[in-house]
Amino acid sequence: MNVLIVHAHPEPRSFTSALCDLARETLQGQGHQVQVSDLYAMHWNPVASAADFAERQDPDYLVYALEQRLGAKHGSLAADIQGELDKLLWADLLILNFPLYWFSVPAILKGWIDRVLVSGVCYGGKRFYDQGGLVGKKALVSLTLGGREHMFGEGAIHGPLEDMLRPLLRGTLAYVGLDVLPPFVAWHVPYISHEARQDFLVAYQRRLSEIERDQPLAFPRLELFDERLYPLP
Ligand SMILES: Cc1cc2nc3c(=O)[nH]c(=O)nc-3n(C[C@H](O)[C@H](O)[C@H](O)COP(=O)(O)OP(=O)(O)OC[C@H]3O[C@@H](n4cnc5c(N)ncnc54)[C@H](O)[C@@H]3O)c2cc1C
Repeated sequence: MNVLIVHAHPEPRSFTSALCDLARETLQGQGHQVQVSDLYAMHWNPVASAADFAERQDPDYLVYALEQRLGAKHGSLAADIQGELDKLLWADLLILNFPLYWFSVPAILKGWIDRVLVSGVCYGGKRFYDQGGLVGKKALVSLTLGGREHMFGEGAIHGPLEDMLRPLLRGTLAYVGLDVLPPFVAWHVPYISHEARQDFLVAYQRRLSEIERDQPLAFPRLELFDERLYPLP
């Protein structure tokens, strides 16, 4: 299996970075091919702009998604986007590895999503969910956070984790057709003991060693909706 890990933490000695290193070593140890996009180390530019296109369909008015389509078709996307898109298309499994920032991904990772999940390749028209451009590939979200586990779930103060991560799990990864595996979560990371953090590393290693047997989360199938995307009776 080809694996792309997109890692977003500014500190190479962080616990989140340890999870990234562990994933690379574990998956390579199992014979998988692994590439890592370490966004801070790469000085990844997260800002979607007109500079992302060497040629423009409409030079006077920027419609980003339309220019993405043209750029992907004509090979005129900026080199950093094309490089990441090539890695994404190579991968069978995409791992997003990050610390939770404001119930979401760090801005640098949001900018990777905005610029690399290109319209016309990853989605477009009615190509989304089970008809998305990345059907057949899998995605795993691996995150660290400050909150405690009991703060998440039905009736808990922050509600269910999957609700918090909905824009990422459903609105992004499932939308482009990926089979989204249940997230791996390391809770309360800065405040627990070294030993408790080691337990998370052991649990992640175990999870990764069985990753090919993981069952994805359920998301809508377009066959259950009509032409105008109303639910079928
Ligand atoms: C802008 C911002 C927004 C945030 N929003 C949220 C939010 O919405 N919800 C929420 O819950 N949290 C939030 N947080 C908290 C954040 O998610 C956590 O602080 C973060 O996930 C902790 O992970 P880390 O890798 O940064 O930990 P670090 O602070 O890097 O590491 C924690 C400890 O682990 C140690 N360590 C490193 N490697 C290892 C290893 N191999 N084994 C054992 N220990 C090791 C480090 O030395 C350190 O002592 C936010 C933080 C920021 C900065």
